[in-house]
Amino acid sequence: MTTQFAKTNQETQPADPACPVGKWKGTPISQMPEPTLRWFAKNWQANPRYSDSVAFREAVDAWLISHPEPQRIQREGMFRDEQGRVFRVQQAQAGHLYALMLEPASGQFVYIRGSMGGLSEANRLTLDQCKEIGKAIGRCVVCGARLTDPASVERGIGPICERRL
Ligand SMILES: [Zn+2]
Repeated sequence: MTTQFAKTNQETQPADPACPVGKWKGTPISQMPEPTLRWFAKNWQANPRYSDSVAFREAVDAWLISHPEPQRIQREGMFRDEQGRVFRVQQAQAGHLYALMLEPASGQFVYIRGSMGGLSEANRLTLDQCKEIGKAIGRCVVCGARLTDPASVERGIGPICERRL
């Protein structure tokens, strides 16, 4: 047990306990980087000394529940990143997935290097969300075509693209 921690851990557990060991010793959880917290959470079993501080361990476990690991994109589809940009993720002939960003004004899809890294399954758009965006920009988000057919304007997506999703 670290005596340093015992000082702060009085009757009630601190809401933001500090890391008890290693390079991050003394750093409150709220200031530790995400990969480090995930590393601790994965290594409790292998390194029992990291769980000496029950408050620290419990707080990291609680943090993990509220911060589930982003799930890597496994299949094609439509996505929206944190900045609100819409992407179509598609499979290359070589087999890997890549993302193209929709330019709402032109309806063009452009390649932006590294954009797959900012997307996860959490960013996947539902069909309803695609329709909502389509109505807002007047284009089918899947192919970028302007919506002109009254039925498509109403739905916010082209009929062929709707079936593709
Ligand atoms: Zn379309």
